Amino acid sequence: MKSCTPVIGLEIHVELNTKSKMFCQCSADYFGKKPNTNTCPVCLALPGALPVPNRKALEWCIKIGKALNCKINLKTKFDRKHYFYPDLPKGYQISQYDEPVAVKGKLGKFGITRVHMEEDTGKLLHSGDDSLVDFNRSGVPLVEIVTEPDFTNSEEVKEFLQQLHTIIRYLEVSDADMEKGSMRMEPNISLRKFKVQSSKFKDELPNYKVEVKNINSFNFVKRAIEFEIKRQTELLEKSETPTQETRGFDEKTMKTVSQRSKEEAHDYRYFPEPDIPPMVFKQSYIDSIELPELPSAKKERFIKKLELKEADAAILTQDVEIAKFFEEVLAKTNASPQSVANLIVNKKLSTESSPDEFAKLAENMAKPKETDLANLGAAIKSVLSANPEAIINFKAGKETVLMFLVGQVMKEMKGQANASLVKEELLKSLK
Ligand code: ADP
Ligand code: MG
Ligand code: ZN
Repeated sequence: MKSCTPVIGLEIHVELNTKSKMFCQCSADYFGKKPNTNTCPVCLALPGALPVPNRKALEWCIKIGKALNCKINLKTKFDRKHYFYPDLPKGYQISQYDEPVAVKGKLGKFGITRVHMEEDTGKLLHSGDDSLVDFNRSGVPLVEIVTEPDFTNSEEVKEFLQQLHTIIRYLEVSDADMEKGSMRMEPNISLRKFKVQSSKFKDELPNYKVEVKNINSFNFVKRAIEFEIKRQTELLEKSETPTQETRGFDEKTMKTVSQRSKEEAHDYRYFPEPDIPPMVFKQSYIDSIELPELPSAKKERFIKKLELKEADAAILTQDVEIAKFFEEVLAKTNASPQSVANLIVNKKLSTESSPDEFAKLAENMAKPKETDLANLGAAIKSVLSANPEAIINFKAGKETVLMFLVGQVMKEMKGQANASLVKEELLKSLK
């Protein structure tokens, strides 16, 4: 099966950090709260309660769509997606089906199918024989991003997800903290039995796919994909078609395990949410939603305008907090951007240090210290007195002598001096 080509598409869920939940006024900040204290009749699905969409959440969903170069639909609506699970109090999730907020985007060379708005579920807690449910998270705004099945290996998936994570954090719509579950990833994997490049069947997808649910680290996504490619290859080699199913990733064994197969696959019975009228946006409203400078543009600017080394620009733009910190320090000092970058990249101070402390340090490092200058002065004096003929030759116009003297002083300083500063000070002494 050397000629197999993996086909991979991704579904990513991002919890928005709006003040309130998606359809009620409960706080969206449920983390660490006493179970079932962050609830109301709407997010508990008590009879008669009516959902009212969160304007900010919709705006932020549009923002994500724009950042992923999507077309924003002017007409969009909510739908009910039915399934039975105890963490879903209504028996359906309010989501979007055929008219999502955003469609047809791109991030790098990978297609974005859609970006839609939905609500998070509650959380199940299992203890011994009991299962408990906490509805604090129920109704928290959730954005789902679906990609085209454009990926062919685990490494490009990981890079894409890291890039997406960085963008979400730049937009400041979510902390996208995977430990807390605010960003969750689901790869769908299948194998084509031929090489893509040489085939006219390029657009034809395998007739099955395996979805690995709810992974919370880039590396686990990578490992899950690699495990699936190996597992499915082995099946195909035995001329078996892998079962279309949903699997989970076991972090202890680094393997995927079957959860439910096609036979039990859900018929979600999608239909338009009757309690929320369809929404129609004006183009002027869509246009008024502005994007911040995105990571790729910021990196370009750091390289072109600030003349940072590419590797440093990459590190400093990888997370919005670091980028902000760097620019804050820069605004407070006259030291060169690269010297400030060096300080931050080499972690010369702890990350808890204030921008002021960094700025001060950057300036002090740019300025030669007085003790350094004194040492340099002494070294120059001793080199000059040991080389009287060099001074005569220099004064006679033989300028190459200067470089010889710089070399001698550097040697005297055991390399612990800045060559251009040595040259400057030597010239002063030779006058
Ligand atoms: P479903 O309705 O089962 O959720 P979708 O068509 O919405 O399926 O696709 C869900 C995800 O699976 C998308 O990211 C898509 O790119 C991906 N996908 C679709 N078909 C395949 C396939 N044959 N192999 C791998 N991924 C696929
Ligand atoms: Mg799906
Ligand atoms: Zn509520």
